[in-house]
Amino acid sequence: MEDDCTGPLHPKAIEGMKLFNEGKFFDSHEELEIAWNEEAGKVRDLYQGILQVAVTYLHITRGNYDGAIKVHERSLRRLKDWPDVCRGIQVGKFRKDAEIVVQQVQKLGPENISRFNPVLFKPIQWNEKRVWTCDKCGSEMYEKNCKVSCPNCGNRFDCSDLNIYFD
Ligand SMILES: [Zn+2]
Repeated sequence: MEDDCTGPLHPKAIEGMKLFNEGKFFDSHEELEIAWNEEAGKVRDLYQGILQVAVTYLHITRGNYDGAIKVHERSLRRLKDWPDVCRGIQVGKFRKDAEIVVQQVQKLGPENISRFNPVLFKPIQWNEKRVWTCDKCGSEMYEKNCKVSCPNCGNRFDCSDLNIYFD
């Protein structure tokens, strides 16, 4: 799975995560579904797991206790084997946040699910992969901890030299 964690994110997955963070869980699910359909690699399982958490949260906001529990269980199967950080997504934190949400829902039970506090819906955190092109030979460059290097000609620089702020 490590290998599946390099490379860029599908643009629709990014769109889906942005909508998720705005609490638009239905729209988030729609975008992630497109990413899941269009992605041929194994990372589609990760997109599906995130999608299922969006659906879990949607069920919670609609007071559907059984739906929330069922879809959360499915999401666990999709999400459990990924490293804590994959393609820049903080998967480990995301899994933990979803777990806390569902524990709280279980504590409330079907009768009181409407009292769920949506402040527990934490945003997904990720860094979008930056693509660097070598100004000497045109190859794609690798970046690690702000050190950017060209695998072809050895050209290298520090991203802080560019005077751009990345978070
Ligand atoms: Zn180069």
